[in-house]
Amino acid sequence: MSNFNRGCTCGLLRYILDLPGSSDDARTTLCHCHSCKRAFGGAFGLTAKTAKENLKYTTSTTPKVFVQDNGVHREFCGQCGVLISSMRSRLKTSSDL
Ligand SMILES: [Zn+2]
Ligand SMILES: [Zn+2]
Repeated sequence: MSNFNRGCTCGLLRYILDLPGSSDDARTTLCHCHSCKRAFGGAFGLTAKTAKENLKYTTSTTPKVFVQDNGVHREFCGQCGVLISSMRSRLKTSSDL
C-alpha cells in the first residue's frame, strides 16, 4: 500500500491518495488531446490515473469544479488555481495528482 499526503500550492486544499497496491497502480499518462491542452495551458497534460475512491480531501474546503464542454470535470483550488483532479463522469478514474 502506498499513501501520499499532498496539497495545492497555497495549502487550502489537502488530500490523501491511498493506492491499495504500489505506486505503480497509478498509471501516468502524457495526454495530447485538445481537452488536456486547454486545461493545462500547454502542449500536453500530465496525469496519474487511479480510481476516484482512492482520493480523499482532508481539508474542510472543497475544490472548485469546472466542467469542460466534453464532460471532463476539473477540480482545482479556488484560491491558487492548482489543478488537483480530473474525471469523466462515466469513468471512475481520477487524475492530475
Ligand atoms: Zn490552493
Ligand atoms: Zn487528454
